[in-house]
Amino acid sequence: MTLDPRAMRALPVARPARDPRPGLSGIEPSQLEAWFAARGEPVYRAQQVEDALWRGTAGSADELLTLPAGLRAAIDEAFRFDSLTSTELSQANGGLTEKALHQLSDGALVESVLMHYPAAPGRRERHTLCISSQAGCAVGCPFCATGELGFTRDLETAEIVDQVRHAARRLALDGRRLTNVVFMGMGEPLLNLDAVLGAVQALADPRRFGLGARHVTVSTSGVVPGIRRLTALGPQFTLAVSLHAARDALRDVLVPINRRWPVAEVVDAARGHAAATGRRISYEVTMIGGINDTDADADALVALLRGDHAHVNLIPMNPVAHTPWQASPMPVIERFARRLREAGISTTIRRNRGQEIGAACGQLAAERAGEPPAPTVARRRERIVRESAAALRGDRSHEPTPTEVGE
Ligand code: SAH
Ligand code: SF4
Repeated sequence: MTLDPRAMRALPVARPARDPRPGLSGIEPSQLEAWFAARGEPVYRAQQVEDALWRGTAGSADELLTLPAGLRAAIDEAFRFDSLTSTELSQANGGLTEKALHQLSDGALVESVLMHYPAAPGRRERHTLCISSQAGCAVGCPFCATGELGFTRDLETAEIVDQVRHAARRLALDGRRLTNVVFMGMGEPLLNLDAVLGAVQALADPRRFGLGARHVTVSTSGVVPGIRRLTALGPQFTLAVSLHAARDALRDVLVPINRRWPVAEVVDAARGHAAATGRRISYEVTMIGGINDTDADADALVALLRGDHAHVNLIPMNPVAHTPWQASPMPVIERFARRLREAGISTTIRRNRGQEIGAACGQLAAERAGEPPAPTVARRRERIVRESAAALRGDRSHEPTPTEVGE
């Protein structure tokens, strides 16, 4: 792209139209079989495509050399073999983290982050991929790089799954396999629930990607109807809830969707989910210095979660442009964790991976979009400081406003 990034942000950019061909990895095997049958092709042809899609190394329909050339061309005309049109890779942490910036057919950018955890005593090596469910996000949490970008669009099932296929292909080159997938990249998965459920099904299906549903974690900022819908479906994947604060006044600022679904409703829905699935809920708390890290915050969290089948992850905030906030100092996070554990709440501090999980997602795309004009940054910072100061006084100073997202 040759445009000046500043211009990209300021002007409505004419983007290429979205590719209308459905992505193959978002299609049920039975639908693919029906497509081949309608063309008078034997069913095993569908199986050959499925094998290439889920277990092969081909990057396009052209490379499906087990198929006749005419059929390859017909597949390419009808479907996208890969819905990611290009991917840029970069490494961090001495190669333990690989970030991927993917471009979609209409030019939208999304990120995925592959994290390698070497084997440790009593623990096998793990390769966890953090994926995006939307380009941008409408929730607008002020400490999040994706929130700063705003919402572009929902991803299709294939665009979600193909982030995983891409990482799996890279791992396979070294004889390694993906062990976990977490929806902690860009976007709010429960505001794109149909596509996310389609992706989870494809990932969990032994005939397709074959990763056990228990190895998939879906993280939400607290979309209550979405949580309840998941509970009714009874899937076995792990639900993570981004809590960040137990008091409504503060959570209204940190997770603006709280104005629509307040924290007590979120925890109630999460509890219902834990009871129905028998799976423990993970609560995420991004630790922001001087904002949500006091003893009173820890005690409010204890009061909210006491007795629950829950686990709390404390993640030092990764600094992002356009907020005045920083991570809480490590001794403060340790003190916070001690207070939770003393009250019987199982708690982990994610020490150095905070920068990668979730936190890193959105940052590459934000960098690519360029900095907004200085007055915009100044106004944004001023609003964050004003709203958080009111919240720290315990003042829910704004009326809860219906957000544009949801339901
Ligand atoms: N929208 C969903 C999932 C994507 S965000 C959600 O909010 O749960 C994934 C995780 O990254 C969330 O827990 C989010 O709060 C966290 N996160 C976002 N920005 C961060 C930052 N700057 N530092 C640390 N964690 C951050
Ligand atoms: Fe959206 Fe999650 Fe970022 Fe909040 S933290 S803006 S919900 S991606």
